Amino acid sequence: MIRADRSRCCGAGMCVLIAEEIFGQDESGLVVIDDGAARTADPALLRHAVSCCPGRALSEVDGAVPAKSSVDERE
Ligand code: SF4
Repeated sequence: MIRADRSRCCGAGMCVLIAEEIFGQDESGLVVIDDGAARTADPALLRHAVSCCPGRALSEVDGAVPAKSSVDERE
């Protein structure tokens, strides 16, 4: 499963370019995720989206590969 921290999303839209069937943007440009599509997506595609997100807003959960950043998001 993939999660988005919308407070970190800068609206660059890279995720949408990578997988428009999973990611979209709301009227403010912030990411929205189709959880159903994400559930059945190729894990490699999800990892690619996570690694390309300039805001480091995306992360995989449930035992999958974590976001590229090792920085504690609370800092
Ligand atoms: S790539 Fe990251 S920063 Fe850009 S819209 Fe998607 S979640 Fe937001």
